[in-house]
Amino acid sequence: MDNVFSEDRLMNSAYLAEDSSTEQSLRPHTLKEYVGQKAVKDSLNIYIQAALSRRDALDHILLYGPPGLGKTTLACIVASEMGQNIRVTSGPAIERPGDLASILSNLNAGDILFIDEIHRLSRQVEEVLYPAMEDYAIDIMIGKGPTARSIRVDLPKFTLVGATTRAGQLSAPLRDRFGMLFRLEMYTPEELSQIVERSAGILGVNAEPDGLLEIASRSRGTPRIANRMLKRVRDYAEVKGGGHISREIAREALSMLDVDELGLDKVDRNILSCMMDKFAGGPVGLDTLAATTGEDAVTIEDVYEPYLMQLGFLMRTPRGRLCTPAAWAHMKKNMPVTAEAQIRMEI
Ligand code: ADP
Repeated sequence: MDNVFSEDRLMNSAYLAEDSSTEQSLRPHTLKEYVGQKAVKDSLNIYIQAALSRRDALDHILLYGPPGLGKTTLACIVASEMGQNIRVTSGPAIERPGDLASILSNLNAGDILFIDEIHRLSRQVEEVLYPAMEDYAIDIMIGKGPTARSIRVDLPKFTLVGATTRAGQLSAPLRDRFGMLFRLEMYTPEELSQIVERSAGILGVNAEPDGLLEIASRSRGTPRIANRMLKRVRDYAEVKGGGHISREIAREALSMLDVDELGLDKVDRNILSCMMDKFAGGPVGLDTLAATTGEDAVTIEDVYEPYLMQLGFLMRTPRGRLCTPAAWAHMKKNMPVTAEAQIRMEI
């Protein structure tokens, strides 16, 4: 049976089935309710007001950043602030050019089309998007062989919101067709505290500000993890703390989940100690690291590395990944002289 306290799934910022019951209800619906990301919100607010006053569709938007930072939420907010409908799909779900053509031709004027993981669209599907984004039209092939010809079908003016964890993997022609590109940043513990406070209110959880801050500061800068942790700590509090989340209860629950005070879990610590014990702190290539830790290379790159880099524990260099002195100190290991020399070569 699935253990609710299984820490291996807690810190994964990707969407998991266990999030489905609450993710919808915890999503903020307006820009005002959306915590943090001030620069992105300020710009979006201006573009939305301008588009509304011109009664025009918004320019296409690309949102990028690690999973769980609020890209889908922001796309839904853009739709509701514009007073338009949103159609949600994802790169892997659109297998053939015809699938995308059918989605596009069913849109109404002003609709928002949200494509998650847009970097995973195939090249042929992407080619349907180019004229759709630029000229609001699609080219449809009629017939086969030498008599085949293409006809252009006009589309209503819509807004594409693309989300990706890997802006670098997007082809240049696709990236260039977005009018606005926004990078979502990891959240501060104070911002995450506001998010969990709001979530605790919605879920009817009884919690002290100190308990919420404890959860926030161990959530790797990611709202999805913060909300998931809140639910796990609530379960613990129901059994051990009379349903009340105090700082002590939050600490006990999180240490039982093997989450340390910086929010590192077993996998993060395994990555760091593997680099330190087997490769003297690096440099280590991503594939080698994946093979030695038993983790998937994409998961390391998308989920674990961004936070370790944010903490200043990991450096990405052309020769591979390197552990910094701060990482050695956190893992309470002595940094060998050779590792110090490797760091000096990079700075
Ligand atoms: P992504 O699409 O980037 O993977 P989501 O938009 O699905 O992330 O966000 C995951 C969850 O985190 C949402 O259910 C929402 O409740 C919460 N969330 C994300 N960003 C914010 C925010 N800025 N303010 C409040 N809650 C947020």
